[in-house]
Amino acid sequence: MQNYIICQTAKRKTLAITISQNLEVKVRAPKKCDIKTIEKFIEKHKNWIDKKLAELEGKSEAKKNTYSSVWYLGQEYPLQIIDDSKKNIFSFDEKQAILFKNPKLTLEKSFKLATIELSKETFSHRLITCHEVFKKVVPSSIPHLKIKFLKSRWGSLSHFNKEICLNAKLIYTKPEIIDYVIMHELCHIKHKNHGKNFYKLFLQLTPDLKEIRKSLKIFFKNLAI
Ligand SMILES: [Zn+2]
Repeated sequence: MQNYIICQTAKRKTLAITISQNLEVKVRAPKKCDIKTIEKFIEKHKNWIDKKLAELEGKSEAKKNTYSSVWYLGQEYPLQIIDDSKKNIFSFDEKQAILFKNPKLTLEKSFKLATIELSKETFSHRLITCHEVFKKVVPSSIPHLKIKFLKSRWGSLSHFNKEICLNAKLIYTKPEIIDYVIMHELCHIKHKNHGKNFYKLFLQLTPDLKEIRKSLKIFFKNLAI
């Protein structure tokens, strides 16, 4: 998902892309410019956008993560780290989390592996739940699930592999935000691009998408991971 905002004005003569500090991609375009031209322009500058977003994201990552806590479904837990010969997993009780870390790996690597492991059950459960709703509107089979740390996207959908890929970081946030990203990617089963029909379908399935999008941005803007 490469979310972007289109800003069309009569005054504007050329296309331009801007990226704000909170990782918002904006395309400025002349009023008469059609969506295909805009999408082509985005596609052409995809590498530049990815690089810029990764840079901005990297800056905030470097600034914050001290591994003194871990977020799980919108709640923060103080983190204790225990060296363990094999594992890279989190264990939670009500008050705290423990990371069982393989001593051969760096803390960053171990934290990432444990995050992916932690997200598997929740993400597959959320995907099943979202797809139950989605398939009533768009009859389809459920895509496979892949989880990765992605630099500049929350998710993506591969038509070729029939696979939805989710950013592991989503496990840190609330289930409704995870559902928002899943629903966005599911809508790409029907519409490949972010055109009018895509948003119509997405809005039908996620009526409060604007508020959720806002809370997603705020959550990760203030987060160290
Ligand atoms: Zn998308």
